[in-house]
Amino acid sequence: MMFPDGKLYINGKLRDAENGARYEDISPWTGEVIALAADASAADMEEAIAAARKAFDETDWPTNRTLRRELVVKLGDKLKASKDRLMALAQHEVGAAKGFVAGPQVGSPLSYIDDLLKIFDEIEWEKPMGDRPGWVGTSRRTLVKEAAGVVGVITPWNVPLYITVGKVIPALLAGCTVIVKPAPDTPLMSAIWGELAAEAGFPPGVLNVVTAADPVVTGEMLVTDKRVDLISFTGSTGVGKRIMEKGAPTLKRLFLELGGKSALIVLDDAPNFAQAVAMGMVTPHAGQGCATLTRLLVPRSRYDEAVGVLQAAYAGYGDKWGDPDAPGQMMGPLISARQRERVLGYIEAGKAEGARLIAGGKAAADKGAGFFVEPTCFVDVTNDMKIAREEIFGPVAVVIPFEDDEDAIRIANDSDYGLSGMVLSGDTERAMRIARRIRTGTIGVNFGASISVDLPFGGYKQSGIGKEWGMEGFDEYLETKAIALGV
Ligand code: NAD
Repeated sequence: MMFPDGKLYINGKLRDAENGARYEDISPWTGEVIALAADASAADMEEAIAAARKAFDETDWPTNRTLRRELVVKLGDKLKASKDRLMALAQHEVGAAKGFVAGPQVGSPLSYIDDLLKIFDEIEWEKPMGDRPGWVGTSRRTLVKEAAGVVGVITPWNVPLYITVGKVIPALLAGCTVIVKPAPDTPLMSAIWGELAAEAGFPPGVLNVVTAADPVVTGEMLVTDKRVDLISFTGSTGVGKRIMEKGAPTLKRLFLELGGKSALIVLDDAPNFAQAVAMGMVTPHAGQGCATLTRLLVPRSRYDEAVGVLQAAYAGYGDKWGDPDAPGQMMGPLISARQRERVLGYIEAGKAEGARLIAGGKAAADKGAGFFVEPTCFVDVTNDMKIAREEIFGPVAVVIPFEDDEDAIRIANDSDYGLSGMVLSGDTERAMRIARRIRTGTIGVNFGASISVDLPFGGYKQSGIGKEWGMEGFDEYLETKAIALGV
């Protein structure tokens, strides 16, 4: 399938890169080119930063809430009307299987736009703080919320629409001006925002979309430029650290959504034990999810049973993945050849460290020239192994036995990450007790959904700083000013 070429959107204009450069957008299913995308240079990013700064400083965008709401509603309607195109892009550009496209890739984020508008309507822009006598007299105080300024949005490739909705809609509604720098692998999923913003009639400079083949150059320009007030980043912890370092000289305000190595704890009394254990298969979207439950913790007392369940579940998964036309499938290829090599490297590391492979372990050459890796499962894993400590971002489950509840909590928390998790048990109080002690930003109990548009999402420890979604997701893009009037 071929798509129209992607353009930049800078200072209100849809255009090619200033030097005419374009790069190939590759389908993860086939390794073939599906479109060309504009390959921005430093000069393009410079223009975008200048335009966003000007729009923030010299127009009424930061103060005109009615205009912002109207234009965001228009943009949201246009995104919703483009659902078929977004679904085709999620499939062919992002490499999502059809069963995964309708929900997390496109359906859910589109439906979240209206929820975000409702949260926007609830923001308390001014809060009276009362009179307070002081040594110079009495002051009548007010707290005022206002836009944080120019925001650089840097996104990953795994769920690009979801992440762009979660960042750009609150940032625009808050009154910020925005420059989006998407991951090089998924340029069209972002370029469409420029196209639709142009149609919706956004004022020049308010929203800018700058795609580039180089993953670093244009992103680092945003991070180091003092005209950019805030970086809203989702991506790996390694790049998050680099951004923190590079942002230090301008004391950049940072919102970082980073990686994870979340634990699924199945307790010995979990009802339907087999179903609970099978939830630990890391197959949806080939494991390319930050909050995916990638460490499966099972009780030693039922360990052999759990391993048997997984062997049967993976054997039964057979060919139920990797078919771009199969409607219900949840797993396709990895995003790129580079990512496939990275994942295969982790699989080799797991073998070398003595973990036992009970499923998968190879690239799936029989599926064609796409970037496939078989659904893979390691058992007899200890929490100090590389495959238990690092984020693999591929279809690789690691199974770790625990002795008792305290041991499960200890293992779950023994991680540099702290993004998400799940506890399954027949005893709700026991499961809740454990959930409260896990150091992660979100956690589900007995299949509860802890990730939702109206709940803050964000990591503890090296999984990030700050929260996306919910009212907290708006606060990331707002400043609070205290004004005191002498009375
Ligand atoms: P990545 O960190 O490699 O890249 C993310 C973005 O940062 C890309 O746009 C990339 O071009 C840009 N970038 C790279 N180097 C940069 C630099 N020095 N300065 C500025 N920008 C730079 O991540 P990825 O491989 O695209 O995505 C996978 C990662 O994203 C995983 O670690 C995953 O856990 C994480 N992720 C986190 C969440 C979350 O909400 N916590 C959600 C989705 C993905």
